[in-house]
Amino acid sequence: MTTLTPVLSDNWDRPDSFTLAGYRDGGGYEALRTALTMEPDAIVDLVKTAGLRGRGGAGFPAGMKWSFLPKDNPKPRYLVVNADESEPGTCKDVPLMLANPHALIEGVAVAAYAIRSHQAFIYVRGEVLHVIRRLKQAVDEAREANLIGPDVLGSGFDLDVVVHSGAGAYICGEETALLDSLEGYRGQPRLKPPFPAVAGLYASPTVVNNVESIASVPPIVRNGAEWFTSMGTEKSAGFGFFSLSGHVERPGQYEAPLGVTLRELLDMAGGVRRGHSLKFWTPGGSSTPIFTDEHLDTPLDFESVGAAGSMLGTRALQIFDETTCVVHAVGRWIEFYAHESCGKCTPCREGNYWMVQVLDRLEHGEGTEADLEKLLDICDNLLGRAFCALGDGAASPVMSSIKHFRQEYIDHVTRGGCPFDHRKATAWG
Ligand code: NAD
Repeated sequence: MTTLTPVLSDNWDRPDSFTLAGYRDGGGYEALRTALTMEPDAIVDLVKTAGLRGRGGAGFPAGMKWSFLPKDNPKPRYLVVNADESEPGTCKDVPLMLANPHALIEGVAVAAYAIRSHQAFIYVRGEVLHVIRRLKQAVDEAREANLIGPDVLGSGFDLDVVVHSGAGAYICGEETALLDSLEGYRGQPRLKPPFPAVAGLYASPTVVNNVESIASVPPIVRNGAEWFTSMGTEKSAGFGFFSLSGHVERPGQYEAPLGVTLRELLDMAGGVRRGHSLKFWTPGGSSTPIFTDEHLDTPLDFESVGAAGSMLGTRALQIFDETTCVVHAVGRWIEFYAHESCGKCTPCREGNYWMVQVLDRLEHGEGTEADLEKLLDICDNLLGRAFCALGDGAASPVMSSIKHFRQEYIDHVTRGGCPFDHRKATAWG
C-alpha cells in the first residue's frame, strides 16, 4: 500500500512555512551549505545518479540536461526556472511557491552553483500576482541572509536571482517562447535544436527547469541519491505532486512516490464525489490522452502511463464522474488551446480553430457522423506537425475521447445535441 511522502510539502501546515525562519527550522538551506563544499560537477553527477526527471511534464533527466551545457563556451550561463504553470488542471507549482518559496530559492542556489551560473531568473505566470509578491519577498529575505547575492555564505560564489512576471500567455510556458518573452520579444517558440542548453537566453547556454524539479534538488543533496531512488520506480525515481481536482471528495496536492495509482490516491482523497462513479480522468493535465476507470490501477510513472497510451505529464489528475459530457469537456479544453495558440504555425492556429467549430456544432445538434472523421483528420494534421508541443497536446484529448467514448459522440448526432444538462452535470457549470 503506497502512502504519502511529504518532502516539499512537509511544512505546509506551519503558519510561517513561507518565511525564512520557518524554512530554516526544518533544516532549510543546509543543503546549500553542503553543496558549496562540493565540486559543482559532483552535484551534477549526484542529480544524475538520483535519476531526477523533469517535473514540468516531459520528464527529461535533469542531471543530463545540466551536463549538456558546452564546456568550451565562454558566454555566461543562465538558469531559468519555468514557473509559468498554465496547463489546464495543473496546479502544483503555485501552491509550492506560496507555501514554501524558499524550497525553490534554495534549489535555484544549488542548481546555479552546480552548472556554474551566476544569473538566475524565475519566470512566473503573470496572473498569479500573489505568488510573485511572495517570491520577491522570499528572494529579498534570502539576499539579506547572504543565501544568494555576492559571495554566498562566504564561499566566493556570486548569484543574482530575478523574479520576472509573464503576461498571461500559455505559450510562454514553452521553454523557448519563455526565453523570447524574457528577452523582451513576443513569446513564440523557437526551432529546436539548438536546445536552450546550447543556445538559450541571449543565445547563451541556459538550463530551463520546472519549479518542482529545481525544488527537488536540495532534498537530494541533503539525503543522497539512494534515498531518492528508494522511492518511485527504477526509471521514474522519487516523489512528486499529484494534483487531484474535479469530482473528488478532497481535491488537493498529494505528494507521493511515482508509480502510485489513481485507486490509491482516491483512497487518500476520500474517493470520487459521493454517490457518483469515475467516468474519465487526465493523468497529467489536459494535454495528455484521457484515461477511464480501466486505468485505475495503472502505476503513475512515465513508463507505465506511456505503455497504457497516455503520458504522465504534470500529474494533474482531473477527475470526471458519470454526469460529465465528454464532448463538452473536450470542447472547453480545445477552446483554451485555440485561444492560446500563438499563431506561428498553421496546423495549430487553424487546426484548433476548426476543432472548436466542429465540437461546438456537435454539442448544439448540428453535427454529423462525418464530423468524427473530420476531427480525427484534423488531429492527424496536428500531431507531430505543429511547431511545438501545444499542437500534440490539443490533439490528445480529442483522439483519446473518440477512442474511449465514440458512442457518446454519435449520440450527440443521433439525439440532435448534447444529452447532458451541463449546468447540473459539469464542475464548472
Ligand atoms: P521536450 O521533450 O521537447 O523537452 C523537454 C526538455 O528537455 C526541454 O527542456 C528540452 O530543452 C530538453 N531536451 C530535450 N532533448 C534535448 C537534447 N537533445 N539536448 C538538450 N536538451 C534537450 O518537451 P517540451 O516541449 O519542453 O515540453 C512538453 C511537455 O510540457 C508536455 O509533455 C507537457 O506535459 C508539458 N506541459 C506542461 C505545462 C505546465 O503548465 N507545466 C504546460 C504545457 C505543457
